[in-house]
Amino acid sequence: MATTESRSDASSIDESELEEAGPNSRTVRALTEVMTVLDSIGRARNADDLFLVNSGSGSEYLVDTRIGSCECKWKQYNPSEECKHQKRVAFATGERPIPQWVDDAALDDQFGLHVDDEPRKAVADGGVMQVRFDDGSVTSPAEEPLAVNSGDEPRTKRAKQEDIDVSFLAKPGRYEVHSASDSWYKVDVLEETCSCPDVAERCKHRRRVEIEIEADRVPRPDGKLPNA
Ligand SMILES: [Zn+2]
Ligand SMILES: [Zn+2]
Repeated sequence: MATTESRSDASSIDESELEEAGPNSRTVRALTEVMTVLDSIGRARNADDLFLVNSGSGSEYLVDTRIGSCECKWKQYNPSEECKHQKRVAFATGERPIPQWVDDAALDDQFGLHVDDEPRKAVADGGVMQVRFDDGSVTSPAEEPLAVNSGDEPRTKRAKQEDIDVSFLAKPGRYEVHSASDSWYKVDVLEETCSCPDVAERCKHRRRVEIEIEADRVPRPDGKLPNA
């Protein structure tokens, strides 16, 4: 049985998921190549359906999502298919969720920076979650539990950013917290208390403990090991 090599110039590219995940697929290139999507300048100004895509090579293409057009050469030869610029616009604006198989670290850093809407990522249960950006990086809570998101409250940000160590105290719900200022506090997640002076409803130590539990970095309140 002969094996057929996939040819990128074939007009009948199979859009199966396997093909889409291949290193040279337009979807992968749309997600990983350096491109900037702009929705409110130049020819894209004041038009909801128009986006300017700047490629890493310095070319600029106008994508019209209403009529499904792009100015690039590939699109001219494949008018019935989606070029990587069209795909990139769909992902960057959140119109289409980023496939779950995509490694976040491989996404182009420019993702979603210059458009009003935020990209979305498909998750295992078939739903989607918002992908947020603070410094141009893409983070998912599951992989980067201490990554600060733009929507975090100040106390949550401190809970994530400060050098806080959490250890389980072998009693249900009790955790010991070693703060960046070298103080020790006791957090009880069942009693919902912390021994620190902060009178806020949830101090940063409790937030940090909850984040660590959620991320399976410390035993759960019942003392069971993560996934045990
Ligand atoms: Zn194009
Ligand atoms: Zn506290």
